[in-house]
Amino acid sequence: MNYLQYYPVDIVNGEGTRCTLFVSGCTHACKGCYNQKSWSFSAGVPFNHAMEEQILKDLKDTRIKRQGLSLSGGDPLHPQNITALLPLVQRIKRECPDKDIWVWTGYRLEELDETQQQMLPYIDVLIDGKFIQEQADPALVWRGSANQVIHRFTHID
Ligand code: SF4
Repeated sequence: MNYLQYYPVDIVNGEGTRCTLFVSGCTHACKGCYNQKSWSFSAGVPFNHAMEEQILKDLKDTRIKRQGLSLSGGDPLHPQNITALLPLVQRIKRECPDKDIWVWTGYRLEELDETQQQMLPYIDVLIDGKFIQEQADPALVWRGSANQVIHRFTHID
């Protein structure tokens, strides 16, 4: 998996102060996409062990307290990205159980296949659905168009 951007301190992509990773690769081709350069799976740079360590270090940072990690893109739930992201979210929940994980995807929740569903136990908030320009509304919070749904999951250990 490649990624385009990593923001160690971010206050606009989800609630609270967060770390945000924009991964590469998306096949939804939404008209009016805000980030077309993220469509290519080879855009950006490889997500490696050092990057994973950096994210964990930032989440554990007590000087600037982060509420959690946001995964955007691109599409973090494209099957090609799951191989890299599943171990990451599992590790975060193991080592930082108090941090929440937000994910933006162009798939609808009910469309997710078995591979993609493996991510769900580790996701606290999922914003799903393609961006539909005709339903775009700048007044919406955390989503770009009215068709997209904010799912807040409650996980019982
Ligand atoms: S899902 Fe997101 S990144 Fe992918 S084309 Fe649609 S708006 Fe762009």
